[in-house]
Amino acid sequence: MYAGVIINRKVEAVDRVFTYSVPPQLQDKLQPGMAVRLPFGKEYVEGVVVELLDAAPEGMRLRPISSIIGDAPLFRPDLLQLSAFIAARYHCTRAAALLAMLPAGLSLSGVLPKLNTQEALYALPLPEDTVLTKKQQALYDAAAAAPGISREALLAAGFSAPMLRTLIKQGCIEQRREKVEVNRPAPALSAADLSPAQQQVYDGIIAEWQGRRRPYLLHGVTGSGKTEVYLRLLAEAAARGKQGIVLAPEIALSAQLQQMLQRRLQLRVVVLHSALTAAERRRVWQDIAAGEVDVVIGARSAVFAPLPDLGIIIIDEEQESSYKQDNVPRFHAREAAIERCRLAEAQLVLGSATPSVTSYHAAETGSFAYGELKERYYNAPPQEVDVVDMRRELREGNRSIFSRLLQDELIAAFTRGEQSMLLLNRRGYFSFYSCRDCGSAILCPHCAVAMAYHAAGGQLKCHCCGHTTPLPPACPGCGSLRIRHFGAGTQKVEEEVRRLLPEARVARLDSDVMEKRGAHEQIVRQMREGKIDVLVGTQMIAKGFDFPRVTLAAVVAADTLLNLPDHLAAERTFQLLTQLCGRAGRRDLSSRAIIQTYQPQALPIVAAAAGDYRLFYRHELRQRQMYAYPPFAHLLRIVLSAENLPALQLAAQAVADQIEVQLLPGMELLGPAPAVWEKMKDRWRWQILLRGDEPQSLLAAAERGWQQAQAEEHLPAGLQVQFDVDPYSMF
Ligand code: ADP
Ligand code: ZN
Ligand code: ZN
Repeated sequence: MYAGVIINRKVEAVDRVFTYSVPPQLQDKLQPGMAVRLPFGKEYVEGVVVELLDAAPEGMRLRPISSIIGDAPLFRPDLLQLSAFIAARYHCTRAAALLAMLPAGLSLSGVLPKLNTQEALYALPLPEDTVLTKKQQALYDAAAAAPGISREALLAAGFSAPMLRTLIKQGCIEQRREKVEVNRPAPALSAADLSPAQQQVYDGIIAEWQGRRRPYLLHGVTGSGKTEVYLRLLAEAAARGKQGIVLAPEIALSAQLQQMLQRRLQLRVVVLHSALTAAERRRVWQDIAAGEVDVVIGARSAVFAPLPDLGIIIIDEEQESSYKQDNVPRFHAREAAIERCRLAEAQLVLGSATPSVTSYHAAETGSFAYGELKERYYNAPPQEVDVVDMRRELREGNRSIFSRLLQDELIAAFTRGEQSMLLLNRRGYFSFYSCRDCGSAILCPHCAVAMAYHAAGGQLKCHCCGHTTPLPPACPGCGSLRIRHFGAGTQKVEEEVRRLLPEARVARLDSDVMEKRGAHEQIVRQMREGKIDVLVGTQMIAKGFDFPRVTLAAVVAADTLLNLPDHLAAERTFQLLTQLCGRAGRRDLSSRAIIQTYQPQALPIVAAAAGDYRLFYRHELRQRQMYAYPPFAHLLRIVLSAENLPALQLAAQAVADQIEVQLLPGMELLGPAPAVWEKMKDRWRWQILLRGDEPQSLLAAAERGWQQAQAEEHLPAGLQVQFDVDPYSMF
């Protein structure tokens, strides 16, 4: 018997399957997916068995596996296969892909998860002629009164451990190791009846599940009852003896969903959230693997939860960029889920009020199934949305970052004792130039993304393709001479609010504030309790927070979103504005949303204000087609970094030249160009973009070019490379 093993080293040089022999004493126990110790070179290392073989390659002296770590496989067959997919699709070592599937704090060699068990105690019929002391009798009675009581509980009740030991030895009490039950609370509420529209969608998903099992895109505005449909599907999975995974971008939603699942459907649910300690994570992971859990809720890596019989994966808010991981492995949870469902023969459901262009396109072309919930379950009064033209404000003498309408509404909301939220894009410090008269930013003619100004050299530069041009004296669109730098941060907005409303309680929520532990929770609590009048923040405030007393929500400058330098800028703008428009006015208070912009005619803004998804989609799809962006092509972003800038620039050019040689027809190379964050942690960063029909062959070409460059060029010491397949940003 032989085993194919992946060595636990995230190094490309050993990234392949090594064959080992299996000594006789391990042959009964060894299974694929198990962690093992084995000799490797001059040392002993850990590895994961990915396959068992009857025959070994000829003519090789094989070394034996030394021992098995733990007593159950760490990886189920579908996850072993999924790790191969992740490694190939997103360019990382198989070891890195496998480790990404384990909970943080769990390594192959370290502490393996212990079964979540406790010592349960049972009183036995007293053996003949047993004489108990008074205290012993009390202990015995306590155990008899509560069969299965835990050892901890008895000790906590004041009984001593030595006395317990004596009774066990005498055969009066039996001690058994028992699995601790994951909470299965008593039924409280029954499930709601589905509306006819919900029923139709539900039936469609079930039909797909029993048929072709294509991913199902459930398109429904916020409040249309998607969550009810999810609940039904998870109950159905449980009824079939299968388990489900729900991916949700926010914890708030997860907790709510967990409650509903437990209380209404009596399902055993765990939430994998970031606040779990490493020990809790391991325990939960073990429960999941043991089949003790019906539903796992979590963020993107919950897609790897080791459920033994997966029936369904639901990804809520499938358009969210947090489903893309921005460190190795740089996978997208949607893609991973598609593959996992294929391997496990499970159904995938993607829910969204504003589907990603890619998913909607897949539905339109039939590779996804599609269903829609058009109306809110409870009719809410439509929200008033105003798009304010900031060019006009300027023309009419208002130089403030707040329009007159926004100022009036801020004052009015404060006077009524209601809350307001002001939003500015997180990446506001990407600086671009735009025209104050027509509002348009200066775009790269090749990539259609905003160009950035580089003070050195006084030039505009495209972060995608590297195209440079001097700052034009006049606007290319309208000829106006008023081309200005654009930028305002959340701090500036906060200052302005304080100036406008000196008595208001103002708070700010952005990534600076988020770095302080607990700051985020505190602000959310204060908002709930009505202790904040105006909340200023980045887009994180638009998501997941349902504050009933917010009656004014405003985007201070939609332009900073719209002009982010990547192909998803328009899509993100539309999604965020749509979310914001649905934010205020959830309850009976009447409310409004205000969008300030220099480009009121920009389509993502017009479509969001009108609540018209299809208008946005059609327009965006044409743009993507024109500039060959996804879904019409795949991109591969290659980031090179080094400490010395001139050396990096030379190296980037050399690597690009080598890759260029490797390209096949239909592939295209853009750049090299500086990454948007050109310097991070003392390293300069440049990037090369590849475009083509198929990610695997793009990767292959890039890798060949990179290897050629390493072999033939004088690359600076310490040059690092990252490959990002289907990138989500150019930062
Ligand atoms: P979504 O997930 O699409 O935002 P929800 O599922 O949260 O929407 O539904 C919005 C509201 O409508 C919730 O308060 C929910 O309880 C209610 N609701 C949805 N479907 C039903 C139903 N079939 N019966 C009763 N209430 C429902
Ligand atoms: Zn102009
Ligand atoms: Zn360009």
